[in-house]
Amino acid sequence: MQINGNAVEAHSGEFFDIINPATCELIDRVPKGTEDDVEVAVEAASSAFKGWASASPQQRARILYIAAGIVRQRKDELAVLLTREQGKPLAESKNEIEGFAHVLEYYCGLASSSHGDFVPIPQNGYAFTVKKPLGVCAAIIPWNMPALIMAWKIGPALISGNTLVLKPASNTPLTNLTLASILSEAGLPPGVLNIVTGPGNIVGESLVKSPKVKKISFTGEARTGKRVAELAACGMKRVTLELGGSDPMLVCDDADLEAAVLGALRGRFYNCGQTCTAVKRLFVFETVAEKFIKKLEAGIRNLRVGNGMHENIDMGPLNNRRQWEYIKKLVEDVEEKDEGRIVTGGRVPENGVCSKGFFFEPTLVTDVPRESRLLKEEVFGPVLPVVQVKDLDEAIEEANNTCYGLGASLWTKNLDKAHKGCEQLNAGIIWLNQHLKIAPEVPFGGTGQSGIGRENGPDSLSEYLDLKTVMLKT
Ligand code: NAP
Repeated sequence: MQINGNAVEAHSGEFFDIINPATCELIDRVPKGTEDDVEVAVEAASSAFKGWASASPQQRARILYIAAGIVRQRKDELAVLLTREQGKPLAESKNEIEGFAHVLEYYCGLASSSHGDFVPIPQNGYAFTVKKPLGVCAAIIPWNMPALIMAWKIGPALISGNTLVLKPASNTPLTNLTLASILSEAGLPPGVLNIVTGPGNIVGESLVKSPKVKKISFTGEARTGKRVAELAACGMKRVTLELGGSDPMLVCDDADLEAAVLGALRGRFYNCGQTCTAVKRLFVFETVAEKFIKKLEAGIRNLRVGNGMHENIDMGPLNNRRQWEYIKKLVEDVEEKDEGRIVTGGRVPENGVCSKGFFFEPTLVTDVPRESRLLKEEVFGPVLPVVQVKDLDEAIEEANNTCYGLGASLWTKNLDKAHKGCEQLNAGIIWLNQHLKIAPEVPFGGTGQSGIGRENGPDSLSEYLDLKTVMLKT
């Protein structure tokens, strides 16, 4: 456990291993937190709340801004740590660390922007509204983008005057712990940000249940999100749930096919396919399908798979054994049950560095039946199913045939088609002629099983503020 960057020596219990997914070697060991550890952290956050809430927004912003600067200076070292525990190529880790700094800076800019309002009331009166921080908030985050998602939670929570207890994913706590130390070094007062490492069903659940926690911001699988929502409902707590997705990419007959192929490669295989908004189902018009699939196949065959620490690597390993086993079994089932044609990939690479970690070849599957698991489940790994459709109506109908609604992209040069896609695709974020781009300046989140609430954008501050109305008679 860590309270504001200082390891709590009192932890005398068990520790657990952090494994490098590219080599299966031990990197470090961290405390296996308990319910008692959670209570200590919540108490620390509760004690720090009054002081932090009464600091001016500018004072709070100054500290976050200094932290962002230190993170930028230490980008290379942090990226190495992230790649070692998460597996992604170094270039992607550097992007993510820069993203962390960018998000903090964005919220510093919003520091004074969230305030109440003056409201004239008919018949001799007026009212004003006041916005107040909630108190102790909890953040629970996944392993796919641990630094970026940490920033999405601590940025709005801290700038609004709340204190926070964060539970990292058990596979990737090291970058989160180092980033918390940097915030402490930047001047964050003791107790304002606390980290408790340990299993979700113990540390995560105790945090959600803790009576002093007023709000939970959760990012992870839909199934875990439902459990968190259930527990939060018992305490009538606020929740934001950022859950899984099965994002469709729709390629029309008039699309720039070269650009669409590059979009599909990045959209599916970035972070080894482990991005919530990755391209998980691709629908292409029949008239251009053959040409498009050929180009896509060539692009996939060119992807260089290996240890993310090495140079010129396009795709690292999956993050953990569970995810690796899931992907292997899924592809085996596709072959056994005749649920599609594997055009390229589909195997665990056997030679060289790849023999030691959780690697899987980037895989392209065509001729996928509509009922295939590849289209029904959230495939969190480097497997891309492609389905041919006759026109945009069919593409949209198929794209919307999912319980998820996180992102969707449409590739066309035709304004009418673009407009129709934006109107009819069922998703929280729609991309036109691109996929995956995310920016803290705009809201992010999904509909349906993809979650409740939004992160990012100016409105995200409201998720961490209580509104009080004051009525006056003149
Ligand atoms: P996960 O298994 O749901 O875990 C997420 C976090 O919840 C981890 O810290 C986990 O702890 C914790 N947890 C597990 N069980 C819990 C419980 N009963 N109560 C409270 N917390 C609990 O998800 P994941 O496999 O780490 O992440 C992949 C998923 O996240 C995918 O579905 C992906 O699409 C989604 N995701 C969504 C977004 C978005 O913004 N919409 C962004 C990124 C990822 P342990 O690690 O200790 O198990």
